[in-house]
Amino acid sequence: MKFHLSLATTLLLATEGLSIRTCGSNHPPTELIEKAILFRAMSKFKPGPNSKPVEEDPVPRKQVVPLHIHNVFINATRDQGYITHEDVQNQFKVLNDNFLSTGVSFDLKTVTHTEDRAWAMASRGSTAEINMKKTLRKGGYADLNIYIRPLRSGLLGYCTFPEDIVKGSDKFFLDGCDVLFSSVPGGSTTYYDEGKTATHEVGHWFGLFHTFQGGCSGGDLVDDTPAEGSPTNGCPIGKDTCKGDLYPGLDPIHNYMDYSYDACMNEFTDGQRVRLYQMWDQYRLQHGSTNRTVTRTSMH
Ligand SMILES: [Zn+2]
Repeated sequence: MKFHLSLATTLLLATEGLSIRTCGSNHPPTELIEKAILFRAMSKFKPGPNSKPVEEDPVPRKQVVPLHIHNVFINATRDQGYITHEDVQNQFKVLNDNFLSTGVSFDLKTVTHTEDRAWAMASRGSTAEINMKKTLRKGGYADLNIYIRPLRSGLLGYCTFPEDIVKGSDKFFLDGCDVLFSSVPGGSTTYYDEGKTATHEVGHWFGLFHTFQGGCSGGDLVDDTPAEGSPTNGCPIGKDTCKGDLYPGLDPIHNYMDYSYDACMNEFTDGQRVRLYQMWDQYRLQHGSTNRTVTRTSMH
């Protein structure tokens, strides 16, 4: 009976909505925070009118990332975690559209559908989660695996951050993103139904933090992300939690790495784009095939 109550609560949240975006990736590894502080200290870019980090990024960069989408469901109905082939394709398209400005694109290599109640409901850090991912995970550390499933605890999603890993370790198998099934485009989670939960989570996979991560004085450790003292709920135009000369600009409520409604999110900053590649080069590039996945194009 206890299990059924828990399940009912989860599915209620999935179909009726959440009081605020709930992401489980609130604690980047210390190593990654230190790396972000180092990258920021090295930055020649300082915030200001019309400033852009062009010196660090002289040519537009592109990166193709192999993508594997795994749908894990309780049973093959839409309210029990199952998503259709069309849902997968729509989520894939949203990811590519949302990352277009960064030069990142995704190449959908694998789609799996698995009926397994324990895996579908597996909580983070559980034996069921590691069993699921040891069975389903595809590719190396430069391959993105997304598990679309019911989750637990009202979470919209969570994702691992990049780290120094050993291939074949539990950390390696756990690498990837978990996304609530009803957050896919046209899903049943009110306000979070355009597929941008996956975009937000994949931002973490690339090493981006929440825009409000360190509050007004720390933020996301990216120079051109305006300071933000608290997560955004909804789409409150004009929100400004960090005031004064030290904190120019309004809160970045339209940023994919805030907590706003899907309809409100539409941007990564230039600095986030640069950071994404810094983290990629540091942690994931060495695990990919250079010939296959990395291209640089000249502006001329
Ligand atoms: Zn998050």
